[in-house]
Amino acid sequence: MSSAQSLLSSVFGFDRFRPGQAEIVDAVIAGQNTLAIMPTGGGKSLCYQLPALCRSGLTVVISPLIALMRDQVRALQEAGVAAGALTSGNTEAETDAVFAGLEDGSLKLLYMAPERLASSGTARMLHRAGVSLIAVDEAHCVSQWGHDFRPDYLRIGALRQALDVPLAAFTATADAETRVEIVNRLFDGAEPQTFLHGFDRPNIHLAFAAKDTPRRQIMNFAAARKGQSGIVYCGSRNKTESLSAALNEAGHSACFYHGGMEAPDRRTVEARFQSEDGLIVVATVAFGMGVDKPDIRWVAHADLPKSIEAYYQEIGRAGRDGASAETLTLYGPDDIRQKRAQIDESPAPPERRMADHGRLNALLGLAESLGCRRQALLTYFGEASKPCGNCDLCDTPPETFDGTEAVRKALSAILRTGEYFGTGHLIDILLGKETDKVRDRGHDALPTFGVGREFDRRQWQAIIRQMMGRDLVRPDPDRHGALRMTENARPLLRGEDTIELRKDSVAKAPSRPSVKM
Ligand code: ADP
Ligand code: ZN
Repeated sequence: MSSAQSLLSSVFGFDRFRPGQAEIVDAVIAGQNTLAIMPTGGGKSLCYQLPALCRSGLTVVISPLIALMRDQVRALQEAGVAAGALTSGNTEAETDAVFAGLEDGSLKLLYMAPERLASSGTARMLHRAGVSLIAVDEAHCVSQWGHDFRPDYLRIGALRQALDVPLAAFTATADAETRVEIVNRLFDGAEPQTFLHGFDRPNIHLAFAAKDTPRRQIMNFAAARKGQSGIVYCGSRNKTESLSAALNEAGHSACFYHGGMEAPDRRTVEARFQSEDGLIVVATVAFGMGVDKPDIRWVAHADLPKSIEAYYQEIGRAGRDGASAETLTLYGPDDIRQKRAQIDESPAPPERRMADHGRLNALLGLAESLGCRRQALLTYFGEASKPCGNCDLCDTPPETFDGTEAVRKALSAILRTGEYFGTGHLIDILLGKETDKVRDRGHDALPTFGVGREFDRRQWQAIIRQMMGRDLVRPDPDRHGALRMTENARPLLRGEDTIELRKDSVAKAPSRPSVKM
């Protein structure tokens, strides 16, 4: 029964499975439909390559990245595995070899770009070839709300039905909406065996701070880590240049990096960062894809990242060597406004913009988390965990107040309007604002109308953000981000539970009496 285990060492050269891999491999070998969510670098490809060798017949692998397919095929061939790819980058000889392997049944793994599925010949060809498993890499490409949407991924569901074989989907994108879309589109709504593993990076210390004196906050953070390699992410190109100058001024060795630089200049920075000790790179999000430096000791965000996924990816560049690493993420009201505006002004369809607002909300919930940050982060990714002892909130728990009454008022506004409206309109109702929309819907007649005047708009936003962060309410992707109550909120609504909210983010606005308008 150790054939998977023995292939692991004989073909792939690994002593043992990484956490999570063995369960996924077992399920795929057993022919179950599976969805595996693992972070980038977690070792997803093994989870379909190894089962492909254990199962009879051909495994077809759908992947959007031609370069990556070619690398994997080369590595497999070097390990003695009969693998091939059909991509636009093929030489004639490569394509001939693939068809010969399909013909005589020797091919075990066939990589294919999704565009191939558009041709009617492909399904027929795969049918004849005796496909026994479909593996889908980067399965989130099927999500129309995501940033990597590939329309041809929508053909995979039909292929699975036509071939009537199990499907194993892999992705590093863990948010719940994307997962639902993957299940709907690839598995026709029938829940696959789902695995989610390995998102925790326990050696990275997590911390957020409200922007107070932002430049000084970053300078202090860097000063306490002088001589260590670090990255500062900034929201604008200008800021990377000015902050880099300030760091050099303060005696650090720093340089800047952004997408507006000439390619050779960017290569120079990348090469310096890789080889020099203690260099700080002040960069936009353009920096990082090609960075493979294990001993980055810290990552700071001078501005709020775009989403919880982006945050996770960016801080995840620190401490790849497993030694302790530190992070600091600053956030302020300007960030929130700017990010919201960027989303609203993007040319994306409305559903996608609402989903982006949801991802931003999740990050804001994390920024204002009450308990352990890592626990909140991993909960978002669907991974259970205990308080970590390695984040700012485990170090120093925040001040809180009894927010039960406020939360009940907000829940009541949500329920009395049929869980059909977003934050802005709900706050209008709580504040008793007679907007056109409020009047048109008759919401000025609700008992909830105007019951929340003890807080202002900003404070209600903070309260509702915290409610999202605790998963009491969720933006509904099917209703353009309307807030819906979750089951977690029921005990509160029934008066069986109370809730503490963070004080700092709901601090009373200075001298603003609650006047009627
Ligand atoms: P992903 O597709 O999840 O980003 P890969 O499948 O490319 O990740 O794997 C990332 C790296 O981890 C690769 O270099 C791979 O060889 C290595 N790896 C995968 N599984 C194991 C294992 N069980 N033991 C050691 N290294 C592994
Ligand atoms: Zn913690």
